[in-house]
Amino acid sequence: MLDQPDFLNLVARGETGLRPLELLAATQSVEARFGRDRSRERSKGPRTLDIDILLYGDEILELPGLSVPHPGMRERAFVLVPLAEIAPGLRHPADGLTFASFIESVSGQGIYLRAARPV
Ligand code: AMP
Repeated sequence: MLDQPDFLNLVARGETGLRPLELLAATQSVEARFGRDRSRERSKGPRTLDIDILLYGDEILELPGLSVPHPGMRERAFVLVPLAEIAPGLRHPADGLTFASFIESVSGQGIYLRAARPV
């Protein structure tokens, strides 16, 4: 959705002892603490905070309410560009293609590295 204020994105990597659905519950509770109220949102519109689980090791998961790898991640510059900053050689667990190799195909989505040049 273009009719919304600019937003910041980042990708973080971490270790957890939580299982996938426990991790989803944890990230959703962080969203709620930052004032997120899904009942008042438009789809893909402004959100106070949106945490997606992009990957969970090299697992491929189809669980109720959780698909991993995140299904749309290779089409989104705001995912691929910051992901390549921390993990340039990372590969999709299903087909082995690097995520970085998809960046060219998503150029023109208006995503910029902050305080850097357009990508
Ligand atoms: P969102 O509006 O981006 O927070 O996502 C809406 C729903 O997507 C959530 O309620 C989750 O149950 C579901 N979902 C499916 N896969 C994922 C994922 N990999 N990470 C986060 N949410 C997911």
